[in-house]
Amino acid sequence: MKILAIGRNYVEHIKELNNERPDEPVIFTKPDTAMVRNNQPFYFPDFSTDIHYEVELVLRLCKMGKNIHEKFAHTYYDAIGLGIDFTARDLQTKAKNKGLPWALAKGFDGSAPVSEFLPLSDFKDINNINFSLKVDGQVKQQGNSSLMLFSFNQIISYISKFITLRSGDLIFTGTPKGVGQIKIGNILEGYIEDKKLLNVEIR
Ligand code: MG
Repeated sequence: MKILAIGRNYVEHIKELNNERPDEPVIFTKPDTAMVRNNQPFYFPDFSTDIHYEVELVLRLCKMGKNIHEKFAHTYYDAIGLGIDFTARDLQTKAKNKGLPWALAKGFDGSAPVSEFLPLSDFKDINNINFSLKVDGQVKQQGNSSLMLFSFNQIISYISKFITLRSGDLIFTGTPKGVGQIKIGNILEGYIEDKKLLNVEIR
């Protein structure tokens, strides 16, 4: 199992971090050791003083594919969940400034809490999914899948040109605006529409 992720997929989030709008999807990976299930707490690591939450819709792949045509990409995932792409923003900024990879800033242990997955049949329109994140009861991020620069199908097709996708792989599809710092003691709650899927305590 592997975790793939796209950066800079929501225009308003690109603006808040003063990033350039990409012509092609910006792809990175997280190792399987980043994944946390069942609302386990997140333990604030000692190598960063600036960890950000980024709530994202996550696709679960259901079959193997390589060079997948966009037209058929929708047959390669069968469920959507919610994830948090925890990012050590201080490490990432240092890496970005030097033109170095984001691997450690994005891939550290526990950096990918993932919710249960909802079958596609639960969604009326996958191009119009509302999702959100509350921190200590306050809504901090609100997104809708219609606002993505690159659609689910485009992301799958693009990644599969380079990397073979397998059943069980996960794809984080980007975060909307409103990212921010976590502090020890915070409670992060993630929603798809009105359904609460994530509840992560920062320890
Ligand atoms: Mg992200």
